[in-house]
Amino acid sequence: MKKKRASAKSVYTFADLKSWRDVDLPIRLGVFGDPVEHSLSPQMQNAALKQSKIEMQYARFHISSDELRAALDLIRKLEFVGLNLTIPHKIAALGLLDSMDDNVKRIGAVNVLRIENGKLRGFNTDGRGFSRAVREEFSVDLRDLRVLVLGAGGAARAIALQCAKENCERLVIANGTFEKGQQLADSLRTFFEGPKVLGPVARLQAIPWEERAFQFQIANVDLIVNATPVGLNPGDPSPIPSRLLAPHLMVYDTIYTDTRTPLVSAAIEAGARATNGLSMLLHQGALAFEIWFQREAPLEVMRKAIG
Ligand code: NAP
Repeated sequence: MKKKRASAKSVYTFADLKSWRDVDLPIRLGVFGDPVEHSLSPQMQNAALKQSKIEMQYARFHISSDELRAALDLIRKLEFVGLNLTIPHKIAALGLLDSMDDNVKRIGAVNVLRIENGKLRGFNTDGRGFSRAVREEFSVDLRDLRVLVLGAGGAARAIALQCAKENCERLVIANGTFEKGQQLADSLRTFFEGPKVLGPVARLQAIPWEERAFQFQIANVDLIVNATPVGLNPGDPSPIPSRLLAPHLMVYDTIYTDTRTPLVSAAIEAGARATNGLSMLLHQGALAFEIWFQREAPLEVMRKAIG
C-alpha cells in the first residue's frame, strides 16, 4: 500500500533538511533566511509553479548564518532546482558558490541560486527587477532619469549598477557612511564617461546624508529610491522629510511591508508620485523563475498571489 506523505510545513529548519522527507508535491525550491517567516516568495512562486504545471513546491527555510554552509551542501544533494537567499545570507553565500554571473561579482551580493549537477551558480535579479518595476510603475526607462539612491548596501548596489548599465542621465548616491557611498560611485565611474551633458551638476556623485545635500540634489533629480531599511520598523521616520520633497519627483521605496511606507506617505503629501517595493519583489521573483526554468514566468498570476 502506498504510504501517505505529509503536507508541506509553513517553515522548515536545518534539522528538517538533515533528515529530509519529501511531501506530496516535492519541495525543490525555497528561500533561506533568518528571519524568513514573513517572506512572500512562497505564495508568489507556488502560484507560478501551479500555473506552469511544474510539479514541485517552494518552501521557507529558517537557516541561521552558522548553518548556511552545511545547508547549502545538503541542498546540492537533495536535487533542489534553486533557492532565493535573503537576510543575512546574500553576502555570506558568495564564498560558497561554484560560479556566479557578472552581476553578482560587481554587486557583491547573491539573491538567486541555480543548482545544476550538484553545483551552485549565483545570480542577482534585484537590479533588473527594479528596472522593470520602475518602467511599470512610472512608464519611464532608467536611461531617461536622474536618480538619487539612498543607501549603499546590497539592494542599493544592485540598483545603482542597473542605473549605470542602462546609462541613466545622472546618479547620486547618499549613504549614512559616506565612504561606502563614495566607493560605490567610484566603482561605477566608467559607465558615466559618455557624452551626456547636464550643465553644472555632476553625472555621478556621492553625497553625505545631510538635509542640505538632499535639498540641493532634489532639485536636480527625477527619481528617489530608498534602498535602506529606514521605514521597515514601526515608528521609523521617512528617510527624507516631506518638506524637502517636491511634486516633480517619482519616489520608489524598495520596502514592501506597508502599502504606504513613511517615505511613500511623505512623497504623496508633497504631491509626488510614489510607490512601495512590491513591484520590485514581483519582478525579481519572475526573473528568478526564468533562471530556474528557462521559460517565461506567469507574471499576472504571481502579481495576484502577492497583491
Ligand atoms: P544592507 O545591505 O544591510 O544595507 C543597508 C543600507 O541602509 C546601508 O547602506 C546602510 O547605511 C543603510 N542604513 C541602515 N540603517 C540606516 C539608517 N537608520 N539611516 C540611514 N541609512 C541606513 O541591506 P539591503 O540588503 O541592501 O536591504 C535594504 C532594504 O532594501 C531592505 O530593508 C529591503 O526592504 C529592501 N529590499 C527590497 C527588495 C524588493 O524586492 N523590494 C529587494 C531587496 C531589498 P550604512 O552603510 O551607513 O550602514
